[in-house]
Amino acid sequence: MEDGKPVWAPHPVDGFQLGVIVDIGADGLTIKPLSQKGKTFLAPMNQVFPAEEDVNKHMEDNCSLMYLNEGTLLNNIRVRYSKDKIYTYVANILIAVNPYYDIPKHYSPETIKSYQGRSLGTLPPHVFAIADKAYRDMRVLKMSQSIIVSGESGAGKTENTKFVLRYLTTSYGTGQDIDERIVEANPLLEAFGNAKTVRNNNSSRFGKFVEIHFNAKNNVVGGFVSHYLLEKSRICMQGTEERNYHIFYRLCAGASEDIRKRLHLDSPDHFRHVKMGALKDPLLDDQADFNRMCAAMKKIGLDDTEKLDLFRVVAGVLHLGNIDFEETGSTSGGCILMSQSSQTLSYCADLLGLDQDDLRVSLTTRVMLTTAGGAKGTVIKVPLKVEQANSARDALAKAVYSCLFDHVVRRVNQCFPFKTSSNFIGVLDIAGFEYFEHNSFEQFCINYCNEKLQQFFNERILKEEQELYQREGLGVNEVHYVDNQDCIDLVEARLVGILDILDEENRLPQPSDQHFAETVHSKHRNHFRLTVPRKSKLAVHRNIRDDEGFIIRHFAGAVCYETTQFVEKNNDALHMSLESLVCESKDRFVRELFENSNNSKDSKQKAGKLSFISVGNKFKTQLNLLLEKLRSTGSSFIRCVKPNLKMVSHHFEGAQILSQLQCSGMVSVLDLMQGGFPSRAPFHELYNMYKQFMPDNLTRLDPRLFCKALFKALGLNENDYKFGLTRVFFRPGKFAEFDQIMKSD
Ligand code: ATP
Ligand code: MG
Repeated sequence: MEDGKPVWAPHPVDGFQLGVIVDIGADGLTIKPLSQKGKTFLAPMNQVFPAEEDVNKHMEDNCSLMYLNEGTLLNNIRVRYSKDKIYTYVANILIAVNPYYDIPKHYSPETIKSYQGRSLGTLPPHVFAIADKAYRDMRVLKMSQSIIVSGESGAGKTENTKFVLRYLTTSYGTGQDIDERIVEANPLLEAFGNAKTVRNNNSSRFGKFVEIHFNAKNNVVGGFVSHYLLEKSRICMQGTEERNYHIFYRLCAGASEDIRKRLHLDSPDHFRHVKMGALKDPLLDDQADFNRMCAAMKKIGLDDTEKLDLFRVVAGVLHLGNIDFEETGSTSGGCILMSQSSQTLSYCADLLGLDQDDLRVSLTTRVMLTTAGGAKGTVIKVPLKVEQANSARDALAKAVYSCLFDHVVRRVNQCFPFKTSSNFIGVLDIAGFEYFEHNSFEQFCINYCNEKLQQFFNERILKEEQELYQREGLGVNEVHYVDNQDCIDLVEARLVGILDILDEENRLPQPSDQHFAETVHSKHRNHFRLTVPRKSKLAVHRNIRDDEGFIIRHFAGAVCYETTQFVEKNNDALHMSLESLVCESKDRFVRELFENSNNSKDSKQKAGKLSFISVGNKFKTQLNLLLEKLRSTGSSFIRCVKPNLKMVSHHFEGAQILSQLQCSGMVSVLDLMQGGFPSRAPFHELYNMYKQFMPDNLTRLDPRLFCKALFKALGLNENDYKFGLTRVFFRPGKFAEFDQIMKSD
């Protein structure tokens, strides 16, 4: 960075601002902003980056910039976004900024057509280009492909995932039902698995991997959806401006008179479990969405009976939430149903096929097997206190709903079956790195998942860089990156990993969140990735004690987890009386919901004890299977970016976006590339850029020779660049130096 040259220096709101360096001191660089208003300020050396000469210029691929750094990356995305160019490449990675409005014709059938069979880079960056690359790679390499879509809540993962599915089914389907079903399964999954949150009014509260399967002729033959970690806490609890899952409100708003009567439905404000936060959202039309959802159900082949089965259980969960308890006042300290809850109890029992009295008893007592007095296996009924009965009720609601969601996914999978498949293209739509004011078990799991995906991302990008160098005949092998295996081990290692420590805690006779946190600290003293909250400056939010939480230094930043409820959230088991109650439901549909869930099998095996089914370890197993699958495929990455917190169009909040680029590992990709040859320019581009400065005898050469002669004549240092087959590769910053020499000569 030279005197007087523009640089990108940190800015609290815009991310970066343009300035010039006016002084270099021991404590940083003094920057004078180029805007009229700004005052001179001090910036750390490692946060100031050279800017491009023309900051209004933009490039489809960031790697074509002369300087590749956080500042130029953010600026390029900003300039492009202002022109409705929401997609940008960094080499083969696609960055997608959510426009928050429908850009005309951006996803039209004509646009779909135009991308078919076209190599990446021949047309403007687009999600369709990535989908087509995956398809062509699958066909040419005869290898399954995956597209990993990531980003924070509201960044556009689900929308882009749907564009990929639509693109592939319209372009390479056979025009049969299957194509449409793969697309139409989404409204159903979203009805049961999405909710309005403060970050997104259609937020997916589960992760999914959707595979489209192809036959030997590379035509679509079927699909398969795997799902991960439905957010269960939402079923009984929502934040003030949030809602429960869409289906509850849609059913109340849209069901026909006949169904309303049969299910005893009322408006949502009559039901405890759906009225805690917001009842309505100005942008959501529950009635219209109900009709759209029913149309989708029809298209994927659900008949009226199946539809009613789903609705009946949803209504059952609604009524269950309205059951209230009060103290009996007796010495046993138990509770009974409040008298006004008896109607609700009968509705609920009826809808779920349960015996009213059994339901009442199961909610207010707990069956335990005792070994007291040597009489092994004596059954005793322990009365529950009001809070315990409330949590039994909520646990039942959560269990029923999550089994229902599992069923919806299973049912969706039946509607695009396939006998044989040669290869698949899988699209992963899963929440990105999360860092809230309070972080609990959910964030812990999702961030662990993101560590694993980040490792995979690094492996692949590194490999791609090396392959590119090899393809171009560069003969270099010097790209390095920081591995995060230590962080993954901290979470998932056998016995000493946090997940196993948590399971151990869950198996204790009296597990406690505090004891769990203490064990984590005691097993990992001096671990580079783990710190005790109270001593750490990193615990910016709350000064919590070391037995209430821990801080993990993730690749995307340090997160302080509060361990309250970790033990409870890690357990998927219902207590015995409730489990046997639903498993013996008179309603076949309800019975099957539980028979088909893994939980019941496990807990039956463990009957006699309070059973424990580990949520964390189930997720770990699922995740490891997913990664095994991803590693066996070719892969592409889409990094979605949310432009602003207001969720409006044409508004670019630089600092927010920069932080997302850091969290998604894009900035570390730049670092990774800095170890190699990050800037690249095709010979013909260099030829066109510089021929005007060259004598005629040179311009008669073909572009490659022209460049060779030029570089020789300028006496460039051979360590600074490499000639590939189609382009020149520059070491960091060297492309710009070269450009300067040319223009100053
Ligand atoms: P979450 O993690 O909460 O599920 P997400 O990343 O899946 O979030 P989406 O639901 O895909 O986010 O997007 C949020 C909203 O942004 C959409 O409902 C839609 O209104 C808008 N949106 C996203 N992408 C686009 C796009 N390409 N064009 C127009 N609108 C978009
Ligand atoms: Mg989503």
